[in-house]
Amino acid sequence: MSETQKLLHWLDSERGRQLDFLQQFARIDTANPPGDTRRAADVFRAFLDREGIAHRTEAPQAAHPNLIATFAGGAGGGRHLMLNGHLDVFPVGDRAAWVRDPWSGEIADGRVHGRGTVDMKCGTTALLFVFAYLYRLRAELPGRVTLTVVSDEETGGKWGTGWLIENCAQEVLGDCVLNTEPSGLATVRFGEKCMLWLRFRIAVKGGHSAYPHTGGSANKMAAVLIHDLQAIEAMVAEEPATVRATLDRPEVRQAAELSLGAGAAEVMRRVTVNIGTMQGGVKINMLPAECVLEVDFRLPVGISRAAVLAKVAAIVARHPGVSVEELLPGGPEATVSDPTHEMMGHLLRHAGVGLAAPPQPIISLGGTDTRFWRAKGVPAFVYGCSPAGMGGVDESVSVAEFHHVLRVHALAARDYLMAGR
Ligand SMILES: [Zn+2]
Repeated sequence: MSETQKLLHWLDSERGRQLDFLQQFARIDTANPPGDTRRAADVFRAFLDREGIAHRTEAPQAAHPNLIATFAGGAGGGRHLMLNGHLDVFPVGDRAAWVRDPWSGEIADGRVHGRGTVDMKCGTTALLFVFAYLYRLRAELPGRVTLTVVSDEETGGKWGTGWLIENCAQEVLGDCVLNTEPSGLATVRFGEKCMLWLRFRIAVKGGHSAYPHTGGSANKMAAVLIHDLQAIEAMVAEEPATVRATLDRPEVRQAAELSLGAGAAEVMRRVTVNIGTMQGGVKINMLPAECVLEVDFRLPVGISRAAVLAKVAAIVARHPGVSVEELLPGGPEATVSDPTHEMMGHLLRHAGVGLAAPPQPIISLGGTDTRFWRAKGVPAFVYGCSPAGMGGVDESVSVAEFHHVLRVHALAARDYLMAGR
């Protein structure tokens, strides 16, 4: 059998084993918070042990371990490919609303059920098998492959991928990253928006509501402020030329809307302003002396945090009595990889097999750990199962999509490594 035939054989003949592992993983509570992933990490380590693959654990916080496994191909030289997935998942929420135990891992109606099966136990399991299959082929492969299975993703990644990038850069930066967060089968994601959180405080004299001329109203000022902040959505992004050309294509816009809902093609490329909380006033017949707004700005590729902060500062300057503070200061910028990168071609080609319409490259509205690599200039691409039901009650993932995602990444990884010969 050729190397390709071997890979295809394992992908198909080990489907039962792949599914067993996903079920086993789904049965482990890795809800974050608290994000204790030790038992899940044990299961991953045991798998690597059975495959005879060396690994090590980096746990800057004991309950949130990160695994690293790596091997060099026997054909020398070549490229360093990273595979990245996370162990922790969203909390269960209202347990009573679930039909099944959120940690059942049951298979019903062609789906594996459980919290986090979509985000991203399906994807992390897929990459574990991709890594194991590439390892078996290592004698013939050029380059190097490194798997990082991390914790803390759902709370920002500071102790997970963020920590590895800062403390184990030599091992984990690599030349290109594959990630299996849920993207939907119709899209491959090559960038993502970022968030900027601001708290506005409006303070006036206040007083008795029959005497508005004496004290002013913080709530009425908030209404004007919100109107002004909304205008920031009109900022025009300076997208890199390849990004603009890609996102302008009608089929890309269509795929984005299909994957992320009507309106997504436009939201993907502009600032959005969400007035998340608004608290002002004490009593109906009092002039509100204070109003506090918490505002979540989502920034697209081509608009910096600094640019938005400058607009905000100019607005605040027009409103005496308004102050602003940044929550989570120093957060990430929106990040993007070249949508014409070779890896995108491999992913689109293999992902398109068996689909009615070829998948399209888009930008993610939410965040993933891939931003840590892109921020360091390492191209990173996301392809995973449908995000439908992610984080919701009765979360479940399609078994067919799980096998599809595993196959696409295995073949794309193989092609990328072989092309670096
Ligand atoms: Zn995720």
